[in-house]
Amino acid sequence: MGSIESGEDKMDIIQDEAENDEVVTVSDLTKEKIAKKIKGPITPVVSDRDQGFHYTNNGKRIFGDVNEIRYRLELLASEGVLESEYKGSYARCPNCGSIRLRFLLTCPHCGSSNIEKRSIVRHLKCGFIAPYNLFQQQRGGLKCPKCGEPISFEDGRVLDSVVSIYSCNSCKKSFTKPKEMIKCESCKVEFSPEDADIIHLNEYRLKTPLG
Ligand SMILES: [Zn+2]
Ligand SMILES: [Zn+2]
Ligand SMILES: [Zn+2]
Repeated sequence: MGSIESGEDKMDIIQDEAENDEVVTVSDLTKEKIAKKIKGPITPVVSDRDQGFHYTNNGKRIFGDVNEIRYRLELLASEGVLESEYKGSYARCPNCGSIRLRFLLTCPHCGSSNIEKRSIVRHLKCGFIAPYNLFQQQRGGLKCPKCGEPISFEDGRVLDSVVSIYSCNSCKKSFTKPKEMIKCESCKVEFSPEDADIIHLNEYRLKTPLG
């Protein structure tokens, strides 16, 4: 009936499981060990945890510090053990190497991200210029506060954006150009876009598969 397994079958199953549970770790990424440990390609995976990326092999995550894993993979590629294929490039934190980054608009005077944006618009029909919120009505919808005409975007372009004015809730200053900053979600450091590093994520394969 197949409901009772022989001792031999059980041994096979246990052995299979032991092999499946074998995971690749950073210490396996050496010239000597790598061919025996990996099956198929080593693939980069972007995620929203830790440094924002990791590597998998045979469907399982490779364990260890991701920056060291990447360093070793690149080393093996430069030594001709692995061949690499470009999969994408990402902006990277210059402090910790994470690619989990958040784009911020900040005050150019004090650096606070506690700022607000106000748009100044012109009603094309009558030429009245005012902050956008003055066109908003309490019960919803838009109406020109000067000529009283209701404004509907179904009529095409009826409001012209004149300028956007930002104000800082921390230092109370106003400005028209916020400072663009990047915040690292991993180490919480803020830096300007030009200080970001760039990382290329590659997929790796053994160059000459060994038996
Ligand atoms: Zn960081
Ligand atoms: Zn008007
Ligand atoms: Zn400020």
